[in-house]
Amino acid sequence: MRFEFATAQRVIFGPGASRQAGALARQAGQRALVVTGRDPSRAQFLLDSLRQNGVGAVVFPVAGEPGVDTVLQGQTLAEKEDCDLVVSLGGGSALDTGKAIAVMLTNPGDVLDYLEVIGGGKDLAEPSAPFFALPTTAGTGSEATRNAVFASPEHRQKVSLRAPTMLPKVAIVDPELTWGVPAAVTASTGMDALTQVIEPYVCIRPNPLTDALCAEGMRRAARSLRLAFEDGRQAAAREDMAVASHFGGMALSNAGLGAVHGFAGAIGGMFNAPHGAICAALLPHVMEANLRALRQREPRHESLRRYEEVGRLVTGRPAASADDGVGWVRQLVSDLSIPPLASYGMTEADMAEIIEKGSKAGSMKANPIVLTTEEQREILGRAIQRSRQA
Ligand SMILES: [Zn+2]
Repeated sequence: MRFEFATAQRVIFGPGASRQAGALARQAGQRALVVTGRDPSRAQFLLDSLRQNGVGAVVFPVAGEPGVDTVLQGQTLAEKEDCDLVVSLGGGSALDTGKAIAVMLTNPGDVLDYLEVIGGGKDLAEPSAPFFALPTTAGTGSEATRNAVFASPEHRQKVSLRAPTMLPKVAIVDPELTWGVPAAVTASTGMDALTQVIEPYVCIRPNPLTDALCAEGMRRAARSLRLAFEDGRQAAAREDMAVASHFGGMALSNAGLGAVHGFAGAIGGMFNAPHGAICAALLPHVMEANLRALRQREPRHESLRRYEEVGRLVTGRPAASADDGVGWVRQLVSDLSIPPLASYGMTEADMAEIIEKGSKAGSMKANPIVLTTEEQREILGRAIQRSRQA
């Protein structure tokens, strides 16, 4: 066995932990670019904390899904304002944007020189400027990953900036920051978190560290996602989801994902749909197709045993099977009112392009078994329709 594991330099978890941000930032720099979501007023406590600790702050709000141009604008602002560290407070969009700006502050040129696929693909050789990540949703686990994802509308594609040095200097995971998240966002982001502890567990290159993170993440997400959806102020449920999300980020970054994320990357570039909602619509169908393909073509595959364990972990029943796990996920998707992909405008006519783009994704290559085109069409066809009709 060989494996490597990397994560944020320092992780601070707990209710109220975000109040330490200013004191920690003071040790890292003098002037922070503060990357927020659409509404920067939510960052007021953070700006106060920075200023009380003598750290200057320049706010850069990110509205909606960030594109490559968002990174260029943020980098320009940070350079003009002499920022020497970046602090992100928000969901995956704010975190990914801040992560990319921080690494661009120390590397020559701009983000287009380094992007995969559509850019120059150069290596980010210089260590990133200090980056602090404070997630306000429990989903992407971006505070524990080494990449940042951006939309490129002209290519109808998501593109990634990736480097080991992009891992945050400090991840502050404060579950209280997620209390105000609306139910529909709790559902979609929470399903992303759940997917991100299932896919690395059954993927082709898991390791004992990611296995432990995924098992604990599945247990917590399974017992708490419904509760957090029904009542966003249930502190214990929010805490479980924050743990699951963070563990998912560590797991995917050090193991890999699978077909759900292979498709989701392609679909996310083509349609304006939340990443977590795309994952949720796909997850039960990918699990079912993977199981069937493994049983038919590779009945002794290690991932089959792992799917049995997933069944036990998510249902909490020691006698549960892999198929029980699929049924449990399908019921959860229905209970959380996850819309079918048709509601974002996706039709069967899009399937060929999604399959083509998905086949090039690193996530697809980590799926436990290579799915046939027919199997992929079946998954997408079911995810387009309402799941209860599937
Ligand atoms: Zn995801």
